[in-house]
Amino acid sequence: MLDQARIDALRDAPVTPGAHIIDGARREASDGATMEVISPLNGQVLTTIPKGTAQDAEAAIAAARATHGDGRWADLAPAARKKILMKWAELIEAEAEDLAVLGVRNNGTEIGMALKAEPLTAVANIRYYAEALDKLYGEIAPTAPGNLGLVHREPAGVVGAIVPWNFPLMIGTWKLGPALAAGCSVVLKPAETASLTLIRLAELALEAGLPKGILNVVTGEGHVVGAAIAESMDVDVLVFTGSGATGRRLLEASAKSNMKRVYLELGGKSPNIVFADAPDLDEAAKVSAAGIFRNSGQVCVAGSRLLVERSIHDDFVARLAAQTENMKVGDPLDPSTNAGAVNSLRQLEQNLGFVEEAKSQGREVRIGGKRILEETGGYYMAPTIVTGVEPDDRLAQQEVFGPVLAVIPFDTEEEALQIANGTEFGLAAAVWTSDLSRAHRMVRKVKAGVVHVNTYGGADLTVPLGGLKQSGNGHDKSLHAFDKYLDLKTAWFKL
Ligand code: NAD
Repeated sequence: MLDQARIDALRDAPVTPGAHIIDGARREASDGATMEVISPLNGQVLTTIPKGTAQDAEAAIAAARATHGDGRWADLAPAARKKILMKWAELIEAEAEDLAVLGVRNNGTEIGMALKAEPLTAVANIRYYAEALDKLYGEIAPTAPGNLGLVHREPAGVVGAIVPWNFPLMIGTWKLGPALAAGCSVVLKPAETASLTLIRLAELALEAGLPKGILNVVTGEGHVVGAAIAESMDVDVLVFTGSGATGRRLLEASAKSNMKRVYLELGGKSPNIVFADAPDLDEAAKVSAAGIFRNSGQVCVAGSRLLVERSIHDDFVARLAAQTENMKVGDPLDPSTNAGAVNSLRQLEQNLGFVEEAKSQGREVRIGGKRILEETGGYYMAPTIVTGVEPDDRLAQQEVFGPVLAVIPFDTEEEALQIANGTEFGLAAAVWTSDLSRAHRMVRKVKAGVVHVNTYGGADLTVPLGGLKQSGNGHDKSLHAFDKYLDLKTAWFKL
């Protein structure tokens, strides 16, 4: 589906400045302020977006509240809501390539992955929840004769959605899909460095017939716009993907305001555990390399800790290094690229800081460890494998969110488990083994929201994604996602 001529035509095309979408209209910030959008491909200014104010967030929340209250969306027949959402998906699909290129120029993800993971996943997400929305039934409770207990599921109201920059359309529609399908109104806050495609998505929603005010987008800084949404007395549910530090602030803001429900999808330090009896070490090395280095490691479920059984450690690391050296890093608009740009200079510097610290502790940087392609002005980093990492090192405990893999050897299954579970996170994990019983034992005992067996990544929309421990408290994807956006209400009758 990738059309190189189209990509080339769009590569340097001017980008219209972004705008808030509030109550169905493009709006500037209330004080007219804008922020530059820097492309990580070359460090140049791509365009601007409004630097939103708290008043902008409040205007969007007011629009969402009013339109939820008047029932223009929530009270539509489910089939009518479905038709509009399906039309929305169709419009996104028709623009998928343009959206993918715009997104890549904004956030740096390699185009092959971006096309599939971003617009096309958005299309799939919206269709999935649109198709499901008229199959959600209430319940009749098994009461004693003489009573009737009905359990209704009602749209929760106004949803605040705050999303990160690594996969704005995928993560955005993991929230927008079920929230809008459930009949809620939404105020969406994209990340500063990945707002452009989400603004376009909201415009396409209006074109598809979504009533004005149901989906509002406010761009700007997290501590201003995001905080205003979190602190609002008029937002009923707050859904978030991003860092733990921000997640903590959102919980505080909820406690200090209206105790809105807060669902957090946070970071990880996911263990990828390779036992000596893995069925195919070459396949394990290839998938493990992709599992940490795709999108330059900027994937929440990235397998960023490689736990390898000591007897195969050197052999496996050699295979992994060979696979990694085969990966093409660079221009994300070249379809043959396997890993594109790091999202921002700040993130690149943070990644390099982790490597420098590991070096200073005597850990070995087996490959990578440095900025590359600096002459482009872009933010590129060589995929990096660090060996000899100790389980308590900062590199093994904290999320880098970059292309840096920490390798830790282990001797026994018990030790592997102990190391795997020895961080504050619990988002994803993988186990490579031919022993079926061991695979099941590990699935039970590894504390993670998703445990892959003999693979890494690729868990599709039909299964939930959410973290344990400090990786979060809610789930995106699957029908379970609806629970966040629907309230239960009991009707109790005396017959
Ligand atoms: P971040 O927390 O800095 O920002 C995420 C969003 O929160 C942005 O829109 C930002 O503007 C906003 N924000 C920042 N400060 C805020 C505040 N004080 N109040 C309200 N909103 C605020 O995270 P990031 O750097 O954009 O994203 C990277 C993080 O996201 C990583 O830790 C990664 O693991 C995590 N992540 C998790 C998942 C998941 O599904 N669990 C998926 C992708 C990314």
